[in-house]
Amino acid sequence: MINNLPTYSVLCENFKGDLILPSDEGYEKALKRWAATAQRNAGLVAFVRDEEDIKAVLRFAREEKLEIAVKCGGHSVSGASSTSGGIVIDLSKYLNTVTVDVENKIAHVGGGATWRDVDLATAPHGLASVAGTVSHTGVGGLILGGGYGYLTGEFGLVIDNLISARVVDANGEVHECSEAENEDLFWAIRGGGGNFGIVTSFSLRIHPQRSEVFLADLHFPGEKVKEFFEALQEWLKVRGDRDLLFVFFQDMGNGPVIMAHCFHNGTLEEGKKQYKVFYDLGPIVDNTNLIPYLSLNQAIDDDRPYGTGLYWHGSIFPSPITHPDAGQKLWQSYHSVVKKEPEFRKSTFAILEFHHPSKLMERDNEEMTFGKRGEQINMLVGIGWDGILGHEPTSKAQVYAKEIAKSCVGGQDLGDEGYTNWESDTPTGFARSARIYGDKYPKLQRIKAKYDPSNMFNKWHPIEPKA
Ligand SMILES: Cc1cc2nc3c(=O)[nH]c(=O)nc-3n(C[C@H](O)[C@H](O)[C@H](O)COP(=O)(O)OP(=O)(O)OC[C@H]3O[C@@H](n4cnc5c(N)ncnc54)[C@H](O)[C@@H]3O)c2cc1C
Repeated sequence: MINNLPTYSVLCENFKGDLILPSDEGYEKALKRWAATAQRNAGLVAFVRDEEDIKAVLRFAREEKLEIAVKCGGHSVSGASSTSGGIVIDLSKYLNTVTVDVENKIAHVGGGATWRDVDLATAPHGLASVAGTVSHTGVGGLILGGGYGYLTGEFGLVIDNLISARVVDANGEVHECSEAENEDLFWAIRGGGGNFGIVTSFSLRIHPQRSEVFLADLHFPGEKVKEFFEALQEWLKVRGDRDLLFVFFQDMGNGPVIMAHCFHNGTLEEGKKQYKVFYDLGPIVDNTNLIPYLSLNQAIDDDRPYGTGLYWHGSIFPSPITHPDAGQKLWQSYHSVVKKEPEFRKSTFAILEFHHPSKLMERDNEEMTFGKRGEQINMLVGIGWDGILGHEPTSKAQVYAKEIAKSCVGGQDLGDEGYTNWESDTPTGFARSARIYGDKYPKLQRIKAKYDPSNMFNKWHPIEPKA
Protein backbone atom coordinates (compact mmCIF):
# COMPACT_ATOMS: atom_id res chain seq x y z
CA MET A 1 0.00 0.00 0.00
CA ILE A 2 1.29 3.42 -0.97
CA ASN A 3 0.34 4.98 2.39
CA ASN A 4 2.74 2.59 4.17
CA LEU A 5 5.72 3.96 2.25
CA PRO A 6 8.23 5.93 4.36
CA THR A 7 7.76 9.32 2.66
CA TYR A 8 3.95 9.25 2.33
CA SER A 9 3.47 11.30 5.50
CA VAL A 10 5.82 13.95 4.06
CA LEU A 11 3.62 14.14 0.95
CA CYS A 12 0.50 14.55 3.10
CA GLU A 13 1.96 17.34 5.25
CA ASN A 14 1.60 20.27 2.86
CA PHE A 15 -0.62 18.79 0.17
CA LYS A 16 -3.55 21.14 -0.53
CA GLY A 17 -5.63 18.96 -2.86
CA ASP A 18 -7.15 15.52 -2.21
CA LEU A 19 -5.24 12.25 -1.89
CA ILE A 20 -7.50 9.27 -2.57
CA LEU A 21 -6.36 5.78 -1.58
CA PRO A 22 -8.06 2.50 -2.62
CA SER A 23 -9.75 2.32 0.79
CA ASP A 24 -11.18 5.86 0.53
CA GLU A 25 -14.67 6.87 -0.45
CA GLY A 26 -14.61 8.21 -3.99
CA TYR A 27 -11.83 5.88 -5.15
CA GLU A 28 -13.96 4.07 -7.78
CA LYS A 29 -15.22 7.39 -9.12
CA ALA A 30 -11.67 8.74 -9.29
CA LEU A 31 -10.63 5.83 -11.55
CA LYS A 32 -13.43 6.32 -14.10
CA ARG A 33 -12.31 6.95 -17.64
CA TRP A 34 -14.35 7.65 -20.76
CA ALA A 35 -13.61 4.17 -22.14
CA ALA A 36 -14.12 1.35 -19.65
CA THR A 37 -11.09 -0.38 -21.17
CA ALA A 38 -8.86 2.57 -20.20
CA GLN A 39 -9.55 2.19 -16.49
CA ARG A 40 -6.82 0.81 -14.16
CA ASN A 41 -6.59 0.37 -10.37
CA ALA A 42 -4.23 3.14 -9.27
CA GLY A 43 -2.40 2.97 -5.93
CA LEU A 44 -3.18 6.64 -5.28
CA VAL A 45 -5.14 9.37 -7.03
CA ALA A 46 -3.83 12.87 -6.30
CA PHE A 47 -6.24 15.66 -7.19
CA VAL A 48 -3.66 18.43 -7.26
CA ARG A 49 -4.66 21.99 -6.38
CA ASP A 50 -1.62 23.84 -7.71
CA GLU A 51 1.92 23.48 -9.07
CA GLU A 52 3.33 22.96 -5.56
CA ASP A 53 1.09 19.90 -5.17
CA ILE A 54 2.32 18.59 -8.53
CA LYS A 55 5.95 19.05 -7.49
CA ALA A 56 5.29 17.24 -4.19
CA VAL A 57 3.74 14.23 -5.95
CA LEU A 58 6.56 14.07 -8.50
CA ARG A 59 9.13 14.15 -5.68
CA PHE A 60 7.32 11.36 -3.82
CA ALA A 61 7.02 9.26 -6.99
CA ARG A 62 10.74 9.70 -7.73
CA GLU A 63 11.79 8.80 -4.19
CA GLU A 64 9.55 5.76 -3.99
CA LYS A 65 10.11 4.75 -7.65
CA LEU A 66 6.40 4.76 -8.42
CA GLU A 67 4.85 4.96 -11.86
CA ILE A 68 2.80 8.08 -12.58
CA ALA A 69 -0.01 8.88 -14.99
CA VAL A 70 -1.33 12.38 -15.66
CA LYS A 71 -5.05 12.86 -16.22
CA CYS A 72 -7.07 15.73 -17.65
CA GLY A 73 -10.37 14.65 -19.28
CA GLY A 74 -9.62 10.91 -19.11
CA HIS A 75 -10.56 10.32 -22.77
CA SER A 76 -7.43 8.53 -23.90
CA VAL A 77 -8.66 5.15 -25.08
CA SER A 78 -5.23 3.54 -24.64
CA GLY A 79 -5.26 4.20 -20.89
CA ALA A 80 -2.53 6.86 -21.14
CA SER A 81 -3.98 8.66 -18.12
CA SER A 82 -4.27 5.54 -15.95
CA THR A 83 -1.82 3.41 -13.98
CA SER A 84 -1.98 0.00 -12.33
CA GLY A 85 -0.67 0.49 -8.81
CA GLY A 86 1.05 3.85 -9.41
CA ILE A 87 -0.06 7.46 -8.85
CA VAL A 88 -2.53 9.38 -10.98
CA ILE A 89 -1.89 13.12 -10.98
CA ASP A 90 -5.41 14.31 -11.73
CA LEU A 91 -5.70 17.92 -12.94
CA SER A 92 -9.43 17.88 -13.63
CA LYS A 93 -10.84 18.86 -10.24
CA TYR A 94 -8.92 22.03 -9.40
CA LEU A 95 -6.89 23.11 -12.44
CA ASN A 96 -9.87 23.62 -14.71
CA THR A 97 -10.43 27.36 -14.76
CA VAL A 98 -10.61 29.36 -17.97
CA THR A 99 -10.11 33.13 -18.07
CA VAL A 100 -10.67 35.19 -21.17
CA ASP A 101 -8.66 38.23 -22.20
CA VAL A 102 -11.34 39.67 -24.46
CA GLU A 103 -9.30 42.59 -25.71
CA ASN A 104 -6.36 40.49 -26.87
CA LYS A 105 -8.50 37.47 -27.81
CA ILE A 106 -6.63 34.98 -25.64
CA ALA A 107 -8.05 32.23 -23.42
CA HIS A 108 -5.92 31.09 -20.47
CA VAL A 109 -7.01 27.51 -19.94
CA GLY A 110 -6.18 25.31 -16.94
CA GLY A 111 -4.41 22.06 -17.83
CA GLY A 112 -7.30 20.04 -16.37
CA ALA A 113 -10.22 21.80 -18.11
CA THR A 114 -12.67 20.30 -20.59
CA TRP A 115 -13.72 21.87 -23.89
CA ARG A 116 -17.08 22.59 -22.29
CA ASP A 117 -15.27 24.82 -19.77
CA VAL A 118 -13.57 26.64 -22.65
CA ASP A 119 -16.77 27.14 -24.66
CA LEU A 120 -18.71 28.36 -21.62
CA ALA A 121 -16.04 30.97 -20.90
CA THR A 122 -15.47 32.21 -24.46
CA ALA A 123 -18.92 32.06 -26.13
CA PRO A 124 -20.53 34.84 -24.03
CA HIS A 125 -17.89 37.19 -25.48
CA GLY A 126 -18.66 36.14 -29.06
CA LEU A 127 -15.31 34.35 -29.18
CA ALA A 128 -14.32 30.73 -29.78
CA SER A 129 -11.32 28.44 -29.71
CA VAL A 130 -10.64 25.63 -32.13
CA ALA A 131 -11.97 22.96 -29.79
CA GLY A 132 -12.69 19.26 -29.44
CA THR A 133 -15.96 18.23 -31.08
CA VAL A 134 -17.19 16.45 -27.94
CA SER A 135 -17.45 18.83 -25.01
CA HIS A 136 -16.58 16.40 -22.21
CA THR A 137 -13.14 15.70 -23.77
CA GLY A 138 -10.19 17.16 -21.86
CA VAL A 139 -8.10 20.00 -23.25
CA GLY A 140 -4.79 18.48 -22.10
CA GLY A 141 -4.48 15.31 -24.16
CA LEU A 142 -6.30 16.78 -27.14
CA ILE A 143 -4.08 19.87 -27.40
CA LEU A 144 -0.78 18.07 -26.82
CA GLY A 145 -1.57 15.58 -29.59
CA GLY A 146 -2.59 18.30 -32.10
CA GLY A 147 -6.29 19.00 -31.77
CA TYR A 148 -8.81 19.02 -34.62
CA GLY A 149 -12.17 20.77 -34.28
CA TYR A 150 -15.10 22.23 -36.19
CA LEU A 151 -13.09 25.45 -36.71
CA THR A 152 -9.94 23.74 -38.06
CA GLY A 153 -10.73 24.72 -41.65
CA GLU A 154 -10.61 28.39 -40.67
CA PHE A 155 -7.93 28.41 -37.95
CA GLY A 156 -5.95 25.15 -38.10
CA LEU A 157 -5.25 22.81 -35.21
CA VAL A 158 -5.55 23.82 -31.58
CA ILE A 159 -1.73 23.79 -31.38
CA ASP A 160 -1.58 26.24 -34.29
CA ASN A 161 -3.39 28.61 -31.93
CA LEU A 162 -1.27 27.86 -28.88
CA ILE A 163 0.56 31.02 -27.80
CA SER A 164 2.28 29.69 -24.69
CA ALA A 165 2.10 27.03 -21.99
CA ARG A 166 3.31 26.53 -18.42
CA VAL A 167 4.99 23.18 -17.88
CA VAL A 168 6.16 21.42 -14.70
CA ASP A 169 8.98 19.11 -15.77
CA ALA A 170 9.97 15.78 -14.20
CA ASN A 171 12.33 17.51 -11.74
CA GLY A 172 9.57 19.81 -10.57
CA GLU A 173 10.90 22.88 -12.37
CA VAL A 174 8.35 25.20 -13.92
CA HIS A 175 8.91 26.54 -17.45
CA GLU A 176 6.93 29.08 -19.44
CA CYS A 177 7.31 28.17 -23.08
CA SER A 178 6.40 29.96 -26.29
CA GLU A 179 8.00 30.87 -29.61
CA ALA A 180 10.17 33.36 -27.69
CA GLU A 181 11.00 31.38 -24.54
CA ASN A 182 12.10 27.76 -24.07
CA GLU A 183 11.43 27.26 -27.77
CA ASP A 184 12.66 23.67 -27.66
CA LEU A 185 9.98 22.72 -25.15
CA PHE A 186 7.33 24.67 -27.06
CA TRP A 187 8.32 22.87 -30.26
CA ALA A 188 8.17 19.50 -28.52
CA ILE A 189 4.83 19.77 -26.72
CA ARG A 190 2.97 20.73 -29.91
CA GLY A 191 2.36 17.16 -31.03
CA GLY A 192 4.67 15.37 -28.58
CA GLY A 193 1.96 14.79 -25.97
CA GLY A 194 2.64 14.76 -22.24
CA ASN A 195 6.16 13.39 -22.76
CA PHE A 196 7.96 16.46 -21.40
CA GLY A 197 6.01 17.53 -18.35
CA ILE A 198 2.67 18.50 -16.92
CA VAL A 199 1.03 21.51 -18.54
CA THR A 200 -0.77 23.54 -15.91
CA SER A 201 -1.96 26.27 -18.27
CA PHE A 202 -2.42 26.77 -22.01
CA SER A 203 -2.82 30.24 -23.57
CA LEU A 204 -4.88 29.93 -26.73
CA ARG A 205 -5.62 32.41 -29.49
CA ILE A 206 -9.40 32.70 -29.83
CA HIS A 207 -11.49 34.12 -32.64
CA PRO A 208 -14.66 36.12 -33.25
CA GLN A 209 -17.52 33.65 -33.64
CA ARG A 210 -21.09 34.14 -34.93
CA SER A 211 -23.72 33.12 -32.39
CA GLU A 212 -25.52 30.52 -34.53
CA VAL A 213 -24.18 27.87 -36.88
CA PHE A 214 -25.49 25.32 -39.37
CA LEU A 215 -25.45 21.64 -38.40
CA ALA A 216 -27.13 18.76 -40.22
CA ASP A 217 -27.20 15.00 -39.72
CA LEU A 218 -28.31 13.26 -42.90
CA HIS A 219 -28.76 9.48 -42.85
CA PHE A 220 -28.51 7.20 -45.88
CA PRO A 221 -29.01 3.44 -46.18
CA GLY A 222 -25.98 1.27 -46.92
CA GLU A 223 -27.41 0.46 -50.37
CA LYS A 224 -26.66 4.06 -51.35
CA VAL A 225 -22.98 3.85 -50.49
CA LYS A 226 -21.79 4.18 -54.11
CA GLU A 227 -23.98 7.24 -54.80
CA PHE A 228 -22.97 8.71 -51.46
CA PHE A 229 -19.26 8.63 -52.25
CA GLU A 230 -19.90 9.95 -55.76
CA ALA A 231 -21.73 12.89 -54.17
CA LEU A 232 -18.83 13.31 -51.77
CA GLN A 233 -16.44 13.71 -54.68
CA GLU A 234 -18.64 16.51 -55.99
CA TRP A 235 -18.78 18.10 -52.54
CA LEU A 236 -14.98 18.13 -52.29
CA LYS A 237 -14.94 20.46 -55.30
CA VAL A 238 -17.15 23.06 -53.62
CA ARG A 239 -16.34 22.79 -49.91
CA GLY A 240 -15.04 25.89 -48.19
CA ASP A 241 -12.91 26.52 -45.13
CA ARG A 242 -16.03 27.13 -43.01
CA ASP A 243 -17.23 23.56 -43.67
CA LEU A 244 -16.47 20.33 -41.89
CA LEU A 245 -17.92 16.97 -42.89
CA PHE A 246 -17.76 13.83 -40.76
CA VAL A 247 -18.93 10.64 -42.45
CA PHE A 248 -20.03 8.05 -39.90
CA PHE A 249 -20.84 4.40 -40.46
CA GLN A 250 -22.77 3.57 -37.33
CA ASP A 251 -25.95 2.10 -35.92
CA MET A 252 -27.88 5.24 -34.98
CA GLY A 253 -30.72 3.25 -33.35
CA ASN A 254 -32.39 1.64 -36.37
CA GLY A 255 -29.54 -0.40 -37.76
CA PRO A 256 -26.28 0.61 -39.46
CA VAL A 257 -26.45 3.71 -41.65
CA ILE A 258 -24.18 6.15 -43.43
CA MET A 259 -24.46 9.51 -41.72
CA ALA A 260 -23.18 12.79 -43.10
CA HIS A 261 -22.58 15.10 -40.14
CA CYS A 262 -22.38 18.47 -41.90
CA PHE A 263 -21.13 21.67 -40.27
CA HIS A 264 -21.02 25.13 -41.80
CA ASN A 265 -20.00 28.22 -39.87
CA GLY A 266 -22.81 30.28 -41.35
CA THR A 267 -26.56 30.50 -41.93
CA LEU A 268 -29.12 27.77 -42.62
CA GLU A 269 -29.40 28.81 -46.27
CA GLU A 270 -25.63 28.85 -46.78
CA GLY A 271 -25.27 25.44 -45.14
CA LYS A 272 -27.99 23.86 -47.26
CA LYS A 273 -26.30 25.24 -50.35
CA GLN A 274 -22.88 23.94 -49.30
CA TYR A 275 -24.20 20.42 -48.73
CA LYS A 276 -26.73 20.38 -51.60
CA VAL A 277 -25.24 17.26 -53.20
CA PHE A 278 -26.18 15.23 -50.11
CA TYR A 279 -29.72 16.65 -49.85
CA ASP A 280 -30.20 15.77 -53.53
CA LEU A 281 -29.49 12.11 -52.69
CA GLY A 282 -32.67 11.95 -50.58
CA PRO A 283 -31.63 11.23 -46.98
CA ILE A 284 -33.89 8.87 -44.99
CA VAL A 285 -33.37 11.07 -41.93
CA ASP A 286 -32.82 14.81 -42.25
CA ASN A 287 -31.97 16.56 -39.02
CA THR A 288 -30.99 20.04 -40.17
CA ASN A 289 -30.75 22.90 -37.69
CA LEU A 290 -29.38 26.32 -36.97
CA ILE A 291 -27.97 25.91 -33.45
CA PRO A 292 -26.31 28.22 -30.93
CA TYR A 293 -22.53 28.02 -31.26
CA LEU A 294 -22.41 27.01 -27.59
CA SER A 295 -24.31 23.80 -28.40
CA LEU A 296 -22.04 22.83 -31.30
CA ASN A 297 -19.40 20.90 -29.36
CA GLN A 298 -22.18 19.20 -27.38
CA ALA A 299 -24.15 18.04 -30.43
CA ILE A 300 -22.63 14.54 -30.49
CA ASP A 301 -21.87 14.26 -26.74
CA ASP A 302 -24.68 11.77 -26.16
CA ASP A 303 -23.57 9.57 -29.06
CA ARG A 304 -20.22 9.19 -27.28
CA PRO A 305 -21.24 8.04 -23.76
CA TYR A 306 -18.92 7.02 -20.92
CA GLY A 307 -18.29 3.42 -19.93
CA THR A 308 -18.07 1.55 -23.24
CA GLY A 309 -15.45 -1.11 -23.85
CA LEU A 310 -13.49 0.05 -26.88
CA TYR A 311 -10.70 -0.67 -29.28
CA TRP A 312 -9.73 2.26 -31.55
CA HIS A 313 -7.60 2.20 -34.65
CA GLY A 314 -6.70 5.46 -36.36
CA SER A 315 -5.37 5.63 -39.90
CA ILE A 316 -5.67 7.59 -43.13
CA PHE A 317 -8.46 7.14 -45.66
CA PRO A 318 -7.22 7.24 -49.25
CA SER A 319 -8.27 10.13 -51.47
CA PRO A 320 -11.74 9.50 -52.95
CA ILE A 321 -10.35 10.91 -56.20
CA THR A 322 -7.63 8.25 -56.59
CA HIS A 323 -9.58 5.50 -54.79
CA PRO A 324 -13.22 6.03 -55.86
CA ASP A 325 -14.34 2.64 -54.48
CA ALA A 326 -12.61 2.95 -51.06
CA GLY A 327 -15.82 4.09 -49.34
CA GLN A 328 -17.78 1.12 -50.67
CA LYS A 329 -15.11 -1.32 -49.54
CA LEU A 330 -15.00 0.27 -46.11
CA TRP A 331 -18.79 0.07 -45.74
CA GLN A 332 -18.86 -3.58 -46.82
CA SER A 333 -16.19 -4.52 -44.31
CA TYR A 334 -17.80 -2.51 -41.47
CA HIS A 335 -21.20 -3.97 -42.26
CA SER A 336 -20.01 -7.56 -42.40
CA VAL A 337 -18.38 -7.22 -38.94
CA VAL A 338 -21.45 -5.76 -37.23
CA LYS A 339 -23.65 -8.36 -38.93
CA LYS A 340 -21.64 -11.33 -37.75
CA GLU A 341 -20.74 -9.99 -34.26
CA PRO A 342 -23.91 -8.89 -32.41
CA GLU A 343 -21.95 -7.83 -29.29
CA PHE A 344 -20.09 -5.23 -31.38
CA ARG A 345 -23.11 -4.04 -33.33
CA LYS A 346 -24.30 -1.10 -31.23
CA SER A 347 -21.01 0.67 -30.51
CA THR A 348 -18.88 -0.10 -33.55
CA PHE A 349 -18.25 2.71 -36.02
CA ALA A 350 -16.02 4.16 -38.69
CA ILE A 351 -15.51 7.93 -39.02
CA LEU A 352 -13.93 9.85 -41.87
CA GLU A 353 -13.06 13.49 -41.18
CA PHE A 354 -13.01 15.98 -44.05
CA HIS A 355 -11.32 19.10 -42.64
CA HIS A 356 -10.59 21.81 -45.18
CA PRO A 357 -6.79 21.56 -45.57
CA SER A 358 -5.71 25.08 -46.55
CA LYS A 359 -5.14 26.46 -43.04
CA LEU A 360 -3.45 23.23 -41.94
CA MET A 361 -1.07 23.45 -44.88
CA GLU A 362 -0.05 27.05 -44.16
CA ARG A 363 2.27 25.77 -41.44
CA ASP A 364 5.61 24.25 -42.23
CA ASN A 365 6.00 20.62 -41.16
CA GLU A 366 9.19 21.52 -39.25
CA GLU A 367 7.58 24.22 -37.09
CA MET A 368 6.60 21.79 -34.37
CA THR A 369 6.48 18.08 -33.54
CA PHE A 370 3.10 17.58 -35.21
CA GLY A 371 3.92 17.05 -38.84
CA LYS A 372 1.09 15.33 -40.65
CA ARG A 373 -0.21 18.27 -42.58
CA GLY A 374 -1.83 17.89 -45.94
CA GLU A 375 -5.01 16.87 -47.65
CA GLN A 376 -5.18 13.73 -45.58
CA ILE A 377 -8.53 12.36 -44.44
CA ASN A 378 -8.35 11.06 -40.89
CA MET A 379 -10.11 7.74 -40.43
CA LEU A 380 -11.02 6.18 -37.10
CA VAL A 381 -12.43 2.68 -36.75
CA GLY A 382 -13.75 1.85 -33.29
CA ILE A 383 -14.99 -1.53 -32.14
CA GLY A 384 -17.19 -1.15 -29.07
CA TRP A 385 -18.94 -3.43 -26.62
CA ASP A 386 -20.69 -3.16 -23.26
CA GLY A 387 -17.98 -2.04 -20.88
CA ILE A 388 -18.23 -4.76 -18.28
CA LEU A 389 -14.82 -5.17 -16.70
CA GLY A 390 -13.48 -8.68 -16.99
CA HIS A 391 -15.30 -9.07 -20.29
CA GLU A 392 -12.81 -7.61 -22.72
CA PRO A 393 -12.73 -9.05 -26.23
CA THR A 394 -9.91 -6.63 -27.00
CA SER A 395 -7.76 -8.84 -29.19
CA LYS A 396 -10.74 -9.85 -31.32
CA ALA A 397 -11.73 -6.18 -31.58
CA GLN A 398 -8.17 -5.24 -32.55
CA VAL A 399 -8.20 -7.69 -35.46
CA TYR A 400 -11.56 -6.41 -36.70
CA ALA A 401 -10.65 -2.71 -36.36
CA LYS A 402 -7.49 -3.13 -38.41
CA GLU A 403 -9.26 -5.37 -40.93
CA ILE A 404 -12.00 -2.77 -41.49
CA ALA A 405 -9.49 0.07 -41.85
CA LYS A 406 -7.35 -1.85 -44.33
CA SER A 407 -10.34 -2.93 -46.40
CA CYS A 408 -10.52 0.44 -48.15
CA VAL A 409 -7.13 -0.17 -49.77
CA GLY A 410 -7.80 -3.82 -50.57
CA GLY A 411 -6.18 -5.14 -47.37
CA GLN A 412 -2.79 -3.40 -47.73
CA ASP A 413 -0.95 -2.38 -44.57
CA LEU A 414 -1.75 1.27 -43.77
CA GLY A 415 1.31 1.74 -41.53
CA ASP A 416 1.45 4.09 -38.53
CA GLU A 417 0.08 7.12 -40.31
CA GLY A 418 -3.03 7.74 -38.19
CA TYR A 419 -3.74 10.67 -35.86
CA THR A 420 -1.67 9.98 -32.73
CA ASN A 421 -4.57 10.79 -30.39
CA TRP A 422 -6.67 7.99 -31.85
CA GLU A 423 -4.95 5.09 -30.23
CA SER A 424 -5.80 2.01 -28.25
CA ASP A 425 -2.52 0.14 -28.16
CA THR A 426 -0.63 0.55 -24.88
CA PRO A 427 2.99 1.42 -25.70
CA THR A 428 5.55 -1.35 -25.37
CA GLY A 429 9.00 0.19 -25.81
CA PHE A 430 10.11 3.01 -28.10
CA ALA A 431 10.28 1.45 -31.58
CA ARG A 432 6.78 2.48 -32.60
CA SER A 433 7.28 6.06 -31.34
CA ALA A 434 10.49 6.30 -33.37
CA ARG A 435 8.51 5.31 -36.48
CA ILE A 436 5.66 7.71 -35.72
CA TYR A 437 7.87 10.75 -35.06
CA GLY A 438 10.22 9.85 -37.94
CA ASP A 439 12.98 12.41 -38.64
CA LYS A 440 11.94 14.42 -35.60
CA TYR A 441 12.67 11.60 -33.17
CA PRO A 442 16.38 12.40 -32.43
CA LYS A 443 15.52 16.05 -31.64
CA LEU A 444 12.66 14.89 -29.42
CA GLN A 445 15.05 12.53 -27.62
CA ARG A 446 17.40 15.42 -26.81
CA ILE A 447 14.55 17.57 -25.49
CA LYS A 448 13.24 14.62 -23.51
CA ALA A 449 16.68 14.14 -21.90
CA LYS A 450 16.57 17.78 -20.77
CA TYR A 451 13.08 17.85 -19.24
CA ASP A 452 12.40 14.21 -18.31
CA PRO A 453 15.74 12.36 -18.18
CA SER A 454 14.38 9.34 -16.32
CA ASN A 455 11.30 8.98 -18.54
CA MET A 456 8.68 9.48 -15.85
CA PHE A 457 6.14 10.62 -18.43
CA ASN A 458 5.99 7.47 -20.51
CA LYS A 459 2.38 6.58 -21.22
CA TRP A 460 1.71 8.24 -24.60
CA HIS A 461 3.98 7.39 -27.58
CA PRO A 462 6.97 7.42 -25.19
CA ILE A 463 10.33 8.88 -26.20
CA GLU A 464 13.64 7.40 -25.08
CA PRO A 465 15.73 10.21 -23.50
CA LYS A 466 19.08 10.67 -25.26
CA ALA A 467 21.22 13.76 -24.77
C1 LIG B 1 -15.39 11.17 -27.33
C2 LIG B 1 -14.09 11.65 -27.90
C3 LIG B 1 -14.07 12.70 -28.80
C4 LIG B 1 -12.86 13.16 -29.33
N1 LIG B 1 -12.88 14.20 -30.20
C5 LIG B 1 -11.72 14.70 -30.65
C6 LIG B 1 -11.69 15.86 -31.47
O1 LIG B 1 -12.72 16.44 -31.81
N2 LIG B 1 -10.50 16.33 -31.89
C7 LIG B 1 -9.32 15.72 -31.55
O2 LIG B 1 -8.27 16.21 -31.96
N3 LIG B 1 -9.30 14.62 -30.78
C8 LIG B 1 -10.47 14.10 -30.32
N4 LIG B 1 -10.46 12.99 -29.53
C9 LIG B 1 -9.20 12.34 -29.19
C10 LIG B 1 -8.61 13.07 -27.98
O3 LIG B 1 -7.79 14.11 -28.47
C11 LIG B 1 -7.77 12.13 -27.09
O4 LIG B 1 -8.57 11.09 -26.61
C12 LIG B 1 -7.14 12.90 -25.93
O5 LIG B 1 -6.22 12.05 -25.30
C13 LIG B 1 -8.16 13.36 -24.92
O6 LIG B 1 -7.58 14.20 -23.98
P1 LIG B 1 -7.94 14.06 -22.43
O7 LIG B 1 -7.25 15.15 -21.73
O8 LIG B 1 -9.40 13.91 -22.26
O9 LIG B 1 -7.30 12.65 -22.11
P2 LIG B 1 -6.45 12.01 -20.86
O10 LIG B 1 -6.84 10.60 -20.93
O11 LIG B 1 -6.79 12.76 -19.60
O12 LIG B 1 -5.00 12.29 -21.28
C14 LIG B 1 -4.45 11.78 -22.48
C15 LIG B 1 -2.94 11.92 -22.47
O13 LIG B 1 -2.58 13.30 -22.37
C16 LIG B 1 -1.80 13.54 -21.18
N5 LIG B 1 -2.24 14.81 -20.61
C17 LIG B 1 -3.50 15.24 -20.45
N6 LIG B 1 -3.51 16.48 -19.94
C18 LIG B 1 -2.22 16.83 -19.75
C19 LIG B 1 -1.58 17.99 -19.25
N7 LIG B 1 -2.28 19.06 -18.86
N8 LIG B 1 -0.21 18.01 -19.19
C20 LIG B 1 0.52 16.94 -19.61
N9 LIG B 1 -0.05 15.80 -20.09
C21 LIG B 1 -1.40 15.76 -20.16
C22 LIG B 1 -2.11 12.36 -20.29
O14 LIG B 1 -1.07 12.11 -19.39
C23 LIG B 1 -2.27 11.24 -21.30
O15 LIG B 1 -1.01 10.77 -21.70
C24 LIG B 1 -11.65 12.53 -28.97
C25 LIG B 1 -11.67 11.46 -28.07
C26 LIG B 1 -12.86 11.03 -27.54
C27 LIG B 1 -12.87 9.88 -26.59
